[in-house]
Amino acid sequence: MTVTRNRNREEQLRADVHAELTEIDAPLTAPGRPSRNDPNGWSYGYSDDIDRTTLDWATAYRMLTDHQPDAPRLSHIYAADALLRERRVEGLATLHQKLAGGPINYRFTRCPYCWGSGEDPTDPTCEDLGCSRSMEVLAHDHLCPVCRGEEFAPEYFGPDQMELMAERLARALVARTPALRPIAAWFSRRSRTGQP
Ligand SMILES: [Zn+2]
Ligand SMILES: [Zn+2]
Repeated sequence: MTVTRNRNREEQLRADVHAELTEIDAPLTAPGRPSRNDPNGWSYGYSDDIDRTTLDWATAYRMLTDHQPDAPRLSHIYAADALLRERRVEGLATLHQKLAGGPINYRFTRCPYCWGSGEDPTDPTCEDLGCSRSMEVLAHDHLCPVCRGEEFAPEYFGPDQMELMAERLARALVARTPALRPIAAWFSRRSRTGQP
């Protein structure tokens, strides 16, 4: 079972976000960390300038605008900048979790970055990722850094998950209602019936 990548969706998302930025005359880059214009930047460790045309950025921005469609766009723009500046692409997983209000099972919730395929949607090379030499000769997937390679397939995983949940529920009910020990049962029966 393999979920196919939807490159059209990625292109469309980037194009839509690009159009929204140009509509309000927002620049397509933002300063990295610390600001190149700040000679006293206290933060250590520079990061590259933030590129607002990437899929990472478009994904962060779209998650924010979908969550709060009525907020001013600029606030979402700055939030997406800050997220990628501080946490890079892994920040998308944190943001997704915060917006959902809890841990996410990507088998049942579509990953907003790879759209459920489980593969890194930017198609990095082994060199980009620093795969070991032995891995470079083997054909292997590069996992999505947000869902960690989990495939979105609720119909496929659903039956097993339902079975697992039913088992857990049964175990929890047994744990909540322990069987009375024989002597205790005898006392409890006697006190209920009022027998001597
Ligand atoms: Zn993913
Ligand atoms: Zn590799």
